[in-house]
Amino acid sequence: MRIGLAANQLHHSHADAALFRWLQASERGVRELGIVLCAVGRTHAAIAAHHALDGYDKLIRYPYGRQGGLMKLVAEIVGLPDEGRLLDGAIYLIDPVDPSSIFPEAVALKRQCVINHKPFISTVASARDWVEVERIHASLPPDPGADDLHGLERHTLALIAHDAMKEQMLAYAAAHFDVLSRFAQRVATGTTGHRLNEMAWSLGWPRDTPWVRRYQSGPLGGDAQIADLVLERRCQRAIFFEDPHVARQHEADIQLLERAVTTLTDDAVCMTSPRVAVRWAEAVRKRAARG
Ligand code: PGA
Repeated sequence: MRIGLAANQLHHSHADAALFRWLQASERGVRELGIVLCAVGRTHAAIAAHHALDGYDKLIRYPYGRQGGLMKLVAEIVGLPDEGRLLDGAIYLIDPVDPSSIFPEAVALKRQCVINHKPFISTVASARDWVEVERIHASLPPDPGADDLHGLERHTLALIAHDAMKEQMLAYAAAHFDVLSRFAQRVATGTTGHRLNEMAWSLGWPRDTPWVRRYQSGPLGGDAQIADLVLERRCQRAIFFEDPHVARQHEADIQLLERAVTTLTDDAVCMTSPRVAVRWAEAVRKRAARG
């Protein structure tokens, strides 16, 4: 498995920065899984300077940002098969007020991950969560350090799907109804929520109780309302099936929600593609079964 790795300046600038909090939690899993980390220049330099991953020969240095490091990650998410260059996903720890986090190459990195059904991991919590998901699929024993991410009964889940993705969201929620129903609460934007409640009732969920709490429709501000729940630490996980192929009038609201998630980097998880969300739900079920 080859993963691109980059972190905005704030997230690698000191010993307790987000990048190192992630490595402290997940270094063992990274080594167990033998994940190849393709780290752009300054992120690589910071890891070396702090002696994280010492002696790990699967940490590869990519060019600095100003030499195109992040741009190369984008191309390799798409894949350059003739050259054998291919990434399976990207960890990009975003500081939402760092201007470089909205440079075109940063936006394209996320977009190409979504288009290619690969994980785009933008927070410490998402990165820890992803490593544990991969560990569980590799039949490694559950890491007690990841128990907090699996206490779904204490968490709120946000479910949002753009129009072209709504059928996939319904199919996903029905297929993983057991896992998603474990959450203390589910919230959704208006139209997604309406369809999800209809689906849940058709599966026998009590008629007098909505399965998800509905906020405004996305274009009317639902994303912003859910972003506030995230900022208030009242929503810990978002499953957001985005349609990367159409321009949207409420793009700013969508970005706002994603930036809210990165603001709570240690606590909030966001999954942006059906394949990633399926892999997570399967791991949750397996992990629970292993006790
Ligand atoms: P909707 O909003 O669920 O109301 O369609 C989703 C969105 O477009 O953000």
